[in-house]
Amino acid sequence: MTSALAGLAARLDARAAAGLARSRRTLQTPQGAHVTIDGRAMLSFASNDYLGLAADPRLAAAVAAAAAAFGTGAGASHLLGGHQSPHAQLEHRLATWCAPCAEAEAVVLATGYLANLAALTALAGRDSVVFGDRRNHACLNDGALLARATYLRYPHLDMAALATRLAASKARCKVIATDSVFSMDGSEAPLAELLALAELHDAWLLVDDAHGFGVVGDGRGSVVAAGLGSTRIVYMATLGKAAGVAGAFICAHPAVIATIVQTARPYMYTTAAPAMLASAVQASMDIIRDEPERRNRLAANIAYLRAQAAALPWPLLSSRTAIQPLLLGATALANLVADALWARGLYVPAIRPPTVPQGSARLRVSLSAAHTRADIDTLVAALRAVAD
Ligand SMILES: *Cc1c(COP(=O)(O)O)cnc(C)c1O
Repeated sequence: MTSALAGLAARLDARAAAGLARSRRTLQTPQGAHVTIDGRAMLSFASNDYLGLAADPRLAAAVAAAAAAFGTGAGASHLLGGHQSPHAQLEHRLATWCAPCAEAEAVVLATGYLANLAALTALAGRDSVVFGDRRNHACLNDGALLARATYLRYPHLDMAALATRLAASKARCKVIATDSVFSMDGSEAPLAELLALAELHDAWLLVDDAHGFGVVGDGRGSVVAAGLGSTRIVYMATLGKAAGVAGAFICAHPAVIATIVQTARPYMYTTAAPAMLASAVQASMDIIRDEPERRNRLAANIAYLRAQAAALPWPLLSSRTAIQPLLLGATALANLVADALWARGLYVPAIRPPTVPQGSARLRVSLSAAHTRADIDTLVAALRAVAD
């Protein structure tokens, strides 16, 4: 073994010894509440498929029709011949559906990770400061790195601390970047307060609505739900969670969108996502608009689980969203409980440091419109049995 390989092996061994080894489970079925994983029938609380659309046959039919009409591959980046009519149609629909300001436009990107890199490299540069909530998704941090901007993190949801940092900054360009719904906590950013701070300090407000789009604001996302409108808002959301497909988009003032298209490397230097996926997202948007019962079912499931919080052996974090984390604390305990649930046929992933702060390992219960009350009863009973 070369010394470089020995170094990798030693680091992997150390991770495993600390209980931090990660493994990939293989699903043999479509996404849903009841799935087959590694050959076992499991009740899953692991997916971000909040509306139960990832395996909807209408989306698959849209993919099939678009594959017949446009083929499977876009064949090039958007700027060099890979931009096909389903991409353009989708951008028009998203622009009016989620507009954070008058005349807003939208641009679709291959993934949410790339979308945040694109937004931050378009807005910020070496002379900029990006102010980010400490619990932000990792790709907002990475976007600030790629932009070569200074990244200042403020304590989770601490508006006073953010205000102090903004007031102290002499940067020419300031960007406040935040998740709307925090992916490991289910907590929500105070968007109106953030926009007020952005206005006071002449900053942009980049909102990552990966967990709000499709779910809140009648499906139009967190910014519409909060009733906010400003050319300072750069709205980003992903299409692989509630929308049940893949990809992401940014919706903002036309000058922001043009800057992304003209200059953002994570937009320019990657092949366009297949047009068939843009067609599937349009089918998904029809369902999100026309079937509010899915959101109602999800809301009822959230309320039903929370109503039983007192019966649970560990505390649920305070969350109104589909993300309902159960706080275990020690990494070893979280692993133990996740393994015991797994043995009983329930898949609830343990979230451990460094994804969450030391000492706050948790089980991340993700609810979906696809769950029934009986599924939630099964979860609660299994947690109690495991605790005994
Ligand atoms: C999932 C997620 C992303 C990344 O989106 P992908 O499309 O999966 O790359 C970005 N931000 C947040 C908050 C997310 O939860």
